[in-house]
Amino acid sequence: KELERQRLERMDSVNQLAAGLAHEIRNPLTSIKGFIQLMQLRKGQVPSASHLELILSEIDRIEHLVNEFRQLARPVKKLSLQPVDLDQILQDVTLFMQSQAINKNAVLDYQSQGSCMVLGDANQLKQVWINLLRNAVEAIPKGGYIQVTLLAAGEEAVVIVRDNGAGIAPDALKKLGTPFFTTKEKGTGLGLSVCYAIIHEHRGRIQVESSLGQGTAFIVRLPREENPSMKMVQDPLAVP
Ligand code: ADP
Ligand code: MG
Repeated sequence: KELERQRLERMDSVNQLAAGLAHEIRNPLTSIKGFIQLMQLRKGQVPSASHLELILSEIDRIEHLVNEFRQLARPVKKLSLQPVDLDQILQDVTLFMQSQAINKNAVLDYQSQGSCMVLGDANQLKQVWINLLRNAVEAIPKGGYIQVTLLAAGEEAVVIVRDNGAGIAPDALKKLGTPFFTTKEKGTGLGLSVCYAIIHEHRGRIQVESSLGQGTAFIVRLPREENPSMKMVQDPLAVP
């Protein structure tokens, strides 16, 4: 009975996701169709460069949506938990994201006390910090700052991604992580959903502190590998 209930619940969330994706794809599709119909009407005329560019950017949008969606809907069993050094991962990711920070004349700083092991899937964890850093870069003004900090606090590894950007309004704060919730014109609203799903699978949690106009901090906690109780976890997806 319980298994059946869980299965139905999962189906329900899959249905909701699929409906959301269909909805998000319909807009760019409609506009691509419109542009092509326009070109058909003006047959003989060479399509203008700006029209072609608009079509391409709508196709890019669909591509972006599908790519992010794939991460959310990826096969859950694939998660391979191994001892990984969060410090190493964060060094890689902050280095990789430097170029985007520089584009905004912003400072992206990373501080840690050295190696910090967690049981995790390195690629998925990378994705979490990339998504959080992208949001931070998008939220900060020119010349802003982003501070990433890694600390070991008892049995937990704590990663803080702090920015001095736009901040998040209280009613938006409640909706964070809901698939397709975005306040950006070109946003997908999937980045944070992916973060929440991955961190949940790693038995961690995400906390958000934000004040409008001041900035935002995402605080992510993961169990450290040294913690022996972690080794007994067999099914990372089991509902606690
Ligand atoms: P997207 O970035 O495509 O909008 P996300 O799931 O990554 O989707 O983020 C959802 C929303 O959360 C954003 O549209 C934005 O309103 C808010 N948000 C996330 N991170 C930040 C941040 N660091 N500062 C301000 N707002 C943020
Ligand atoms: Mg995002």
